[in-house]
Amino acid sequence: MLDKSSSVLSFRPPRLYTRTVQYAVVTFLGLLLLVTAINRHSTPKISAPSYAALNEAVFQAHSQKAFTPLVPKSDANVPVEVLRARRKPKAALISLVRNSELEGIEQSMRHLEARFNHKYNYPWIFFNDVPFDDTFKARTGNLTNAECFYATVPESHWSLPKWIDESRFISSLEYLGAIGVGKGWMISYRHMCRWNSGFFYQHPILDDFDWYWRVEPDVHFFCDIDYDPFAFMEENNLKYGFNMNILDDARSFPSMWRQTQEFMSEYPELIHPEADFSWILDHKNDGEYNNCQFFSNFEIGSLDFFRSKTYNTYFDYIDRKGGFYYERFGDAPLHTLAVVLFLSKRETHFFRDIGYQHDINKQCPANLIDKCSCEPTNLDENFYKLVPMESPQKKPDDSCIRLWLGGEWLERDDNGNYVKTGFEF
Ligand code: GDP
Ligand code: MN
Repeated sequence: MLDKSSSVLSFRPPRLYTRTVQYAVVTFLGLLLLVTAINRHSTPKISAPSYAALNEAVFQAHSQKAFTPLVPKSDANVPVEVLRARRKPKAALISLVRNSELEGIEQSMRHLEARFNHKYNYPWIFFNDVPFDDTFKARTGNLTNAECFYATVPESHWSLPKWIDESRFISSLEYLGAIGVGKGWMISYRHMCRWNSGFFYQHPILDDFDWYWRVEPDVHFFCDIDYDPFAFMEENNLKYGFNMNILDDARSFPSMWRQTQEFMSEYPELIHPEADFSWILDHKNDGEYNNCQFFSNFEIGSLDFFRSKTYNTYFDYIDRKGGFYYERFGDAPLHTLAVVLFLSKRETHFFRDIGYQHDINKQCPANLIDKCSCEPTNLDENFYKLVPMESPQKKPDDSCIRLWLGGEWLERDDNGNYVKTGFEF
């Protein structure tokens, strides 16, 4: 017979049992909250059909009229002693380079020293993921009167972050390699793009500097640069200077624009009130990002811009999603989108007067013939040289640089030819 006291109705659990149930309930509720919070962050707030609407809204809100580019004042007749006595911006020529690229960097240094830096004497700062060897230091140091610094990138800035799924990363290396995306299979290339996106400006060796000019090995500078681009930028409140604005193989960053849209809907307050999206959105393609980008192997920029909380909120957002490893996000499109989102167009400058070549891309101004050793190139010359035939991306109707310049640069005559040829400057 059942004892009355043990019947279900009158059952009184022991104290320990009550505690366990309480803990279980609290733990369950805690877990539920955590999962909800994680979901809130990993699930985009925008559903797919609204991306086009978002494109349109951004276009309407942020579309600037064309503006007249600034023209730097020449120092050609100012004696070197006077130039050197001037207060100089805190600026450096910076180069990420391997020991094995010594000859390439010597070539770039020779050009830039001869065309510019022998007068202005800005220091060179070399970065490497491994220490530079003595030959590298001796030979680069011999090519300039300016100071040279050699910095090693900390390992934490050049390794797979812990949130990356390695097998997904390996698949991406194999896939992008197989479809022929340039350097798609190289692990070091992924670290390099990420470092140039989110880490170069964090290196303590740059702490005392406000400005950088990025220089790669094997590039060419064709024209005398008769003014100080750093001073020009500082005096005119410029934050980012570029030299080419082109298309690259968009198969390396297919999700970057979606992620950027999500970022914008999450942080609308970070978008600059004078941001100009009109030149990067293609009305003929659902208002999608047209993949135009500043070719970032040449950059003259403000370190404070990259150090800003705004830029780093964006970088961290993108970085967390893993696109540097699951795709092959480049620092060029990332810098470009950041410049578009967070700066007014008036803070960006096109250095058309700096004749320059990186590999097959070359730009040479037409109005400085006696100062340059290159054949003038048309404005549109480099527009889609880097897009392989097999890439399915749509080309915008106008070249990236014309879209950026806007206004009269987009006007065509009755035969569809541009009114301005691009040899005007
Ligand atoms: P591309 O211009 O996109 O074809 O890329 P590059 O191969 O020219 O690399 C861009 C820059 O990063 C150059 O200045 C290279 O010297 C540098 N770089 C690329 N990979 C590495 C690397 O593994 N180590 C170091 N130290 N520099 C690298
Ligand atoms: Mn390069």
